[in-house]
Amino acid sequence: MYAVISQPSPSPPPEAQAPSGETENLRNLRQRRRTGSSQDLLSLRRLQIQFADDMQEFTKFPTKTGRRSLSRSISQSSTDSYSSAASYTDSSDDEVSPREKQQTNSKGSSNFCVKNIKQAEFGRREIEIAEQDMSALISLRKRAQGEKPLAGAKIVGCTHITAQTAVLIETLCALGAQCRWSACNIYSTQNEVAAALAEAGVAVFAWKGESEDDFWWCIDRCVNMDGWQANMILDDGGDLTHWVYKKYPNVFKKIRGIVEESVTGVHRLYQLSKAGKLCVPAMNVNDSVTKQKFDNLYCCRESILDGLKRTTDVMFGGKQVVVCGYGEVGKGCCAALKALGAIVYITEIDPICALQACMDGFRVVKLNEVIRQVDVVITCTGNKNVVTREHLDRMKNSCIVCNMGHSNTEIDVTSLRTPELTWERVRSQVDHVIWPDGKRVVLLAEGRLLNLSCSTVPTFVLSITATTQALALIELYNAPEGRYKQDVYLLPKKMDEYVASLHLPSFDAHLTELTDDQAKYLGLNKNGPFKPNYYRY
Ligand code: NAD
Repeated sequence: MYAVISQPSPSPPPEAQAPSGETENLRNLRQRRRTGSSQDLLSLRRLQIQFADDMQEFTKFPTKTGRRSLSRSISQSSTDSYSSAASYTDSSDDEVSPREKQQTNSKGSSNFCVKNIKQAEFGRREIEIAEQDMSALISLRKRAQGEKPLAGAKIVGCTHITAQTAVLIETLCALGAQCRWSACNIYSTQNEVAAALAEAGVAVFAWKGESEDDFWWCIDRCVNMDGWQANMILDDGGDLTHWVYKKYPNVFKKIRGIVEESVTGVHRLYQLSKAGKLCVPAMNVNDSVTKQKFDNLYCCRESILDGLKRTTDVMFGGKQVVVCGYGEVGKGCCAALKALGAIVYITEIDPICALQACMDGFRVVKLNEVIRQVDVVITCTGNKNVVTREHLDRMKNSCIVCNMGHSNTEIDVTSLRTPELTWERVRSQVDHVIWPDGKRVVLLAEGRLLNLSCSTVPTFVLSITATTQALALIELYNAPEGRYKQDVYLLPKKMDEYVASLHLPSFDAHLTELTDDQAKYLGLNKNGPFKPNYYRY
């Protein structure tokens, strides 16, 4: 029922709440806020900002130019924070490294390494909340009560460890798999969720704020376990796959397939394939329709304003915004900005996307033409150096600059690390870069992905991606020998359609069925696939 044949893919394609023990000073200022002067309000804002920052771990790594430096050997994806605001437990209360701690869950197992196993109950509640918007995975679990399509699967995973991925991991377990899991990102783990997974018996090795050494140690603990050998890999960013290639190449003798979600990881897989070094089949989830159209378009449409509001409190009505790139991410951002009354300009290199922008009612311009007048600059191109130092020099005072595209590369942030510019960390993930004449540019998340760093992303969209991952694992695990070779494959169209159909009941959407006559007329199977592979949606 789950098996569908795949085609080889073409070429690579809050501000924090004031703590209950707020200072008298802050209380007085709050009091005065009702009647207070703008100076008071400014002071209040500064104090609130200070509180917000005090609550964040990053204050341990003072910014300006002296940021925490991460070795180059750690991948970029591993340093993109993912819904950092969603983790309510802060690790700053406990400085002891989880690696030094002896912890056991209530069943006496110590086959995990998390920040604090005592947070499990809280984490369980978070997972239950996520489950409410991930009904497709829950329905997969129900279907698996009879059949266990992943019975015997030993999955080693490396993804963000959040409530939503916990729902995926527990679904894989319900489908019969054994799982060992680490985090693909050193900042993104929700500690309480990791604790809940460990309490439920999942071998999870992850905590928020891992060092680079911790990061690789956790991956290693998942792969290198006496008496347990993985036969499937679920990766997000390619670090786990890279580690297995580098340290344990023999593991690939048993691996039936790799499922990879990210652009970076998929790119690495294609490189391996091109070099003739890919020794197992791999599924490129990133380029499946249900990922691209939903994660890129709808996720960004839902989260761009959240990220900007949380960091800057900006009002969008009448603001001039330039969005660089009118692909899926750009289209999502523009739709949200337009809906709030922003005046949106687009830059594009591709005439087709430029024409789409025109037809959607946006002015297509060169960045130079508008850079002096815009209030917000958002990059969504997947390219590098789209916003250069020259552009940054010409921006007006208080211009907000952020990135929704490829991490770190789109805005030339390095060019701002020069002696004549002063960096002032004003809030978590918000830097004012100050020019000698006093002009300030508001840089968000240091050019990393705004939504993943500064807001949460919708659970429902993550559900679509997680369901796609689960089905890709089922397909690769159950595929008869010879169906997949040592190559990178796109998800079969039918599987994409199945993922979508599992999410329709959430909307009480009723699909029309083809009549026999209509199916014959269109040359389709009544059960799909309904579109050819080249259809663009
Ligand atoms: P896409 O290819 O559909 O769109 C990118 C667009 O940018 C293209 O139309 C391209 O022509 C244009 N472009 C390239 N260079 C440009 C330049 N110098 N100036 C102006 N336009 C330029 O890709 P996409 O799906 O929109 O993804 C874009 C990036 O966003 C990727 O790096 C992707 O990994 C990332 N992404 C981010 C999120 C998120 O949550 N923030 C989600 C999905 C994808």
